[in-house]
Order: sequence, then structure tokens, then C-alpha cells
Amino acid sequence: MTEDVVIVGGGHNGLVAAAYLARAGRSVLVLERRSELGGAAVSFRAFPGIDVRLSRYSYLVSLLPAKIAADLGIDVELRQRHISSYTPCGDGGLLVDTADRDRTARSFRKLTGSARDFAAWERFYDLTTRVAGPIFDSLTEPLVDRSTLEAMVADKDAWSVLFDRPLGETLRDWFTDDVVRGIVLTDALIGTFAAADDADLTQNRCLLYHVIGRGTGQWNVPVGGMGAVTASLASTAQRAGATLLTDAEVLAVSPDGEVRYRRGDAEHTVHGRHILSNVAPTRLADLLGETPTEPPEGAQLKVNMVLDRLPRLRDTTVSPADAFGGTLHVNESFGQLEIAHREAAAGRIPTVPPCEIYCHSLTDPSILGEAERSAGFQTLTLFGLHMPARLFKGDNDIARTEALRATLASLDSVLAEPIEDRIVRAPDGAMCIEAKTPLDLEAELGLPAGHIFHRALQWPYAGDPVELGRWGVETEHDRILLCGAGARRGGGVSGIPGHNAAMAVLDSE
Ligand SMILES: Cc1cc2nc3c(=O)[nH]c(=O)nc-3n(C[C@H](O)[C@H](O)[C@H](O)COP(=O)(O)OP(=O)(O)OC[C@H]3O[C@@H](n4cnc5c(N)ncnc54)[C@H](O)[C@@H]3O)c2cc1C
Repeated sequence: MTEDVVIVGGGHNGLVAAAYLARAGRSVLVLERRSELGGAAVSFRAFPGIDVRLSRYSYLVSLLPAKIAADLGIDVELRQRHISSYTPCGDGGLLVDTADRDRTARSFRKLTGSARDFAAWERFYDLTTRVAGPIFDSLTEPLVDRSTLEAMVADKDAWSVLFDRPLGETLRDWFTDDVVRGIVLTDALIGTFAAADDADLTQNRCLLYHVIGRGTGQWNVPVGGMGAVTASLASTAQRAGATLLTDAEVLAVSPDGEVRYRRGDAEHTVHGRHILSNVAPTRLADLLGETPTEPPEGAQLKVNMVLDRLPRLRDTTVSPADAFGGTLHVNESFGQLEIAHREAAAGRIPTVPPCEIYCHSLTDPSILGEAERSAGFQTLTLFGLHMPARLFKGDNDIARTEALRATLASLDSVLAEPIEDRIVRAPDGAMCIEAKTPLDLEAELGLPAGHIFHRALQWPYAGDPVELGRWGVETEHDRILLCGAGARRGGGVSGIPGHNAAMAVLDSE
């Protein structure tokens, strides 16, 4: 059998590519290894007998362009949160309320003792917002070179902060307070194992992708959970005529377009005029029988919990609803992040793991069943930083237990009651908490060493003259394109590499 396009992997990007190409009249076959579509963008009832649909892996949306959502009719509401973040510090803390500038200014003054860091904070995010629009718009266009993008940005200060200087230098120059520096730094470390001063600027690239989404850098809650985004994409692709097969594991692909896959006990072969790889570049190399280069390394511990109510905080001046309403930063000052990085780089689970937490059900109670909602249950998602795959390579189960224990102790340090007292028990008596190490993510989703972006994020301009005017999805094989997070403008729930791969296919014909 021959298809115009065979897509290896049914993550959200594979579905975006499938939807665009099927709508353009191409025959499309998507082969997904798991029994559900969506990859890391799914909702799941993780605890038997508890009706709570957790965004099990990814949870917030910023990078999905309005154009892709409109083109494909993604009808999921992305709800804003008025609390941006709360960061406990001693018996106080720093609250950033985007709806109340005075409240935020007062909180900065109380924490830092002056107005200086708040002014710098506003200047910093003015700067990133100024340049977010042109950079974000460029992600769904053919690649330009570095100097052209710099000219499009037309802002020397912003370019220097984002593209030239290690972020650590900027943070020390701009801010006096260790906590304030740390809050900015966290966006550079999500799923990225780096130090603030790393010369290769991996951390800067991660920050860049966190401050440009939709031209504002705002991160919103998908109503209905991440699974709603995937369901909407799958239904668009299917309505347009794409065939979406689950439980179909691709075993091998060849440069001439042959794809071998297993479904149930049977092996099948299909030919694609084009093959789009939604799997990570290292996985694609495996499927091609090539030697992967530079294996990536994921670096996070993801924890999901269901609580009977939100816990009380040590800081009694902030309500739990405000503290958990945005991103709750725990032990994420600049100094704490750097220590945790050093410990993890030396092969040790950080003594005080830095992590950030958010409560989906506060903004979107629709993910709770009726009984759970009336009982006042809440969900907590915890994203732990600086937990690289290397820490789990000996015995993943033992290391997971140890990492979770240290992480919950870190969270407890800012609470007035132990988090464990608030975790709901399922009817079978088990606590409603699950933790995913990078190795768990590799086993479940095929993410190489658990890297949530398939590989380190890359600059959004042509790295080589040969890439100029292309879509950043090409491989050395003409028929094979990347359509997943590992493409040049990939990473996050964005649909961008899916869109760009579809455009590359259509341009080539
Ligand atoms: C814990 C976690 C939290 C995150 N949080 C956020 C967040 O809040 N916001 C955000 O924007 N991003 C977040 N991310 C990142 C984001 O989810 C990913 O970058 C994005 O989902 C990648 O999408 P994708 O479609 O490119 O690939 P994937 O989602 O990785 O999908 C690839 C698909 O390929 C399938 N596959 C693998 N091997 C084979 C094979 N041999 N044959 C067939 N199919 C195969 C997999 O099963 C999977 O379904 C998070 C990721 C994780 C893991």
C-alpha cells in the first residue's frame, strides 16, 4: 500500500501535520505506538475510582499560534490566570498578580526592601514582550538567518539579553534579590538541564520559548485539560480523511519511503511518498538503523496529585487560592537552583529539590467529576527541576522513591501542614499521587532519556546556510521530515513543527 504521507507517531504535532495535509487532499496514515493519541498532550484518569482527568504530562499552553488553532478549528478555551506566580520565602513571599499592579509592587517592596527590583522586573518583561510578536510570528514562516531575525526584532537590548549573554549575567546585573532572579531563571530551566551561566546558552533558548508564546509569553490553562486539545486535533484530522491507527508501533523506516510497523501480532509494511517523523530525532535514527548523535537528557520529575483541599501555607498573608492560582515556586531562588544543578551534575538527587506547582482545577473545575467537585477536591501538578535522567539509571524505582520523598519535603518546607495529609485515598486505599522520572517518560512516551522537547531547544533561525528559506524540519533524506518537538522550531505544545512539516511537504510538490 502507498500513502502520500505516513506519520510516525500520533503526538499532537503528528495530528497537526495530518490535519493540514489531509485537508490539502493528501492521503495520510498516522501510526501511533500507544493505545491513545496525543503523546505528551493527554488527559488521564490516573487513580482508579477517582473521576479526575489530569493533564498527565504537559499542562499549560502558550506556544500554540492562534493561526493554527483557527486553521484547524481547535475549539478549546485557553483560560488566563490573574495570578502569575507566588514564591514563598521564609514566613512571607512574593506574589505577582497581573491584574493588580499595586499589589505586586507592594509584595516586591516587602520582600526586597526597595522599589528597584520591581522596576527592573517590569523593564525585563516589557523587553521580552516587545520582541515576542515578531519572533513568534516568524516560527510559522520559512527560516531566515540570524542577522535577518535580529533586524526583524530591531531591539539591541532585547537581542543581547535573549540571544547573546548567558542569562545568569543578565539576572545578576538587573536584579538584586536572589528570589527574584530565581523566578526569572526557572523559565530557562524547564525540562532543560543547564546552569544560569552556561556558555552554550541552552538556558537562554529555553527562556526564549517561554516568553514569546502568542506574542505575549502568557501561559494559559486548556479548559478540559490537555486531552481536549488532542481530541480536537484528532477529530479535525479524521474528518479531513486522515487514518489514525493506535497500537501501531513503527519498527523501521527506510530512506526510500518504506515503513514497517507492528499492530497486535501482525507486522505490516506501508510506503509513504513522504514520511513525517513525530518521534525524537534520536528515535528516528534508531528506526533508520543509523547511529544517533548527541543523545539528549531530560531533567525533571513530574508529580500529579489529587487533594481533598488545598494545603495551608506558612505565609498566612496569602490565601491558598492565590498561592496555588498561578505558578507556585518552591525553593527556586537563583542560589538554590544553582546548588541543585551542581548536586545533580555530580550525580546526586538535590538535597532541596526546586519545583513549581500549579492547580489546574482552580482555573478549570471541569476536569473534576461531579462528586469530586462537590467534595472540594483539587488537583496539583508538580514539575521538579534538575532531576536529570542520569540520577535514575541505577534503579529507577528506588531513585524515584528517593526523589519524590525529597521533593515532597521541599514542598512541605513552605506549607503549614504536611502535603501527605491532604492527598486523597482512592477506594482501593492507595494515595492519589504518581511520580514520573525521565526514565518513566522514556518508557511511556518514547521521549529519549525523558527529554520533554525531544532534544535541547534550538535557536529559531537558520543554523546553516542550507537551511535558509526552508522549514527547519528537513533531514538528510529527501522523503523524511521531522514533524515533532525535535524540529528546529519545536518543543512544547505548539503544533508549530507539525504545521511546518506540512508546509514543507506541500512546497515540495
Ligand atoms: C511532564 C511534561 C510536562 C510538560 N509540560 C508542558 C507544558 O505545560 N506546556 C508545554 O507547552 N509543553 C510541555 N511539555 C512539552 C510538550 O508536551 C512536548 O514538547 C510536546 O507534547 C511534544 O509533542 P510532539 O507531538 O512533538 O511529540 P510527543 O508528544 O512526544 O509525541 C510523539 C508520539 O510518538 C509516539 N511514538 C514514539 N515511538 C513510536 C514508534 N516507534 N511508533 C509509533 N509511535 C511512536 C509516542 O507514543 C507519542 O505519542 C511537557 C512535557 C512533559 C513530558
